[in-house]
Amino acid sequence: MNKHENFSEWYNEVIEKAGLTDKRYPVKGMNVWPAYGWKLMRLIDDETRRLVEETNHQEVKFPLLIPEDEFKKEADHIKGFDDQVFWVSHAGRNELDIPLLLRPTSETAMYPVFDLWIRSHTDLPLKTYQIVNVFRYETKQTRAFMRMREIHFFEAHTCHQDEVEAEEQIHEDFEIMDALSKKLCLPYLKLKRTDWDKFPGAEYSVGADALMPTGRLLQIAGIHQYLTNFAKAYNITYEDIDGEHKHVHQTTYGMSERLIGAVVAIHGDDKGVVLPPEVAPIQIRIIPIIYGEDADLLNYCREIEDTLKEMGFRVDIDDHDDLRPGSKFFHSEEKGIPLRLDIGGNEMEDGTVTAVRRDTGKKTVIPYDKLSMNIKEILETMEEEMYDRARQDLEDNMEDAQDFAEMKEEKIYRIGWCGELDCGQYIEEVSDREILGTLYDDKEDHKGQCLSCGKPTVEAVYLCRTH
Ligand code: ZN
Repeated sequence: MNKHENFSEWYNEVIEKAGLTDKRYPVKGMNVWPAYGWKLMRLIDDETRRLVEETNHQEVKFPLLIPEDEFKKEADHIKGFDDQVFWVSHAGRNELDIPLLLRPTSETAMYPVFDLWIRSHTDLPLKTYQIVNVFRYETKQTRAFMRMREIHFFEAHTCHQDEVEAEEQIHEDFEIMDALSKKLCLPYLKLKRTDWDKFPGAEYSVGADALMPTGRLLQIAGIHQYLTNFAKAYNITYEDIDGEHKHVHQTTYGMSERLIGAVVAIHGDDKGVVLPPEVAPIQIRIIPIIYGEDADLLNYCREIEDTLKEMGFRVDIDDHDDLRPGSKFFHSEEKGIPLRLDIGGNEMEDGTVTAVRRDTGKKTVIPYDKLSMNIKEILETMEEEMYDRARQDLEDNMEDAQDFAEMKEEKIYRIGWCGELDCGQYIEEVSDREILGTLYDDKEDHKGQCLSCGKPTVEAVYLCRTH
């Protein structure tokens, strides 16, 4: 398995060997979540829940099925999703009067109800989220975690009195995304999309893009400003403090299991996946270095296991007596368990353990009485270093380009574009890459010229291939 020689093959193999997904389900684009993979997803969801509830979002759950007439109220939205929808046309043998569709996203399920929930300015802001499965008929080649037809989806939907509040929400969303990305060791770019690439129905969209080892970007989250576009289509109004009726301003924030796909792709190596300590289903695996039987050593290992569990770590022990230590190391590495504790006769005598990091292989001998503190420290350092390495890689793979001839590699190019549609389409066609937008919050000083018409430009535009 060589990650850099054949990424696709490597990726497909490591996710299955780790037990993150089972691709044998007989519907294309719909995989099974085995226990280990689902636990990882749930730990990521838990962290997401913690972050959004800290900022006063409330969890809701809307039905999976949406009636056709509600779906068709916002014109741009339909245009964007129409050819991706799965339809339910029959109930038993009877054709339905109004066909139902499986939610591809939940605007059109939620907003007719938001209209009933919101009466006055005291009902605002309304900050909701749900974590559900959505369905999109994906026509491109499907890939586990990255491009699925049944998607594990986090979606936050908010309503506000005015544009100022809605803009503040977008900033808050990025604070949440930043915090989550640190825990997942996933540095990313915040790129404000072009008009032709924004979410269907949005005023503007900002993509969170992570760099894959292929040199292509993968969008791992989308944050969208709707202003009153949907509120007008669904007539969501409130009475303001002066008794005037106004449309609410709305935003959304979406993420999916692509977070797992990005973690695997960025941090995995030729031995398998490497999971970030904060969300790893098993953070520590104890490996008794035993050849044959040794009850004393096993008891010492179990004592350490109990101690670590009491301290709140997710820990297990590989006590298979039919496997040699080398095979146990191999299994632990394949599953991406962040820390291994090797415990043999020497460790037992000295009252220590030998900790081995999954990402760097670095070994540390830890005395029993310092277990908790030292392990916490090692895992925190590991998280920081994984993040920093990926951040460095992202920075090393960005380059300015003044003309098309310079774009020889698979990386992110910063170019000049005047913003005109024609020029944008020309640049995408000639470069065979996508314009992903401009940085959302850091204004860069980047004087250049449009690659198409030559007009002077002041902002860098990011051009790259995508997954
Ligand atoms: Zn131009």
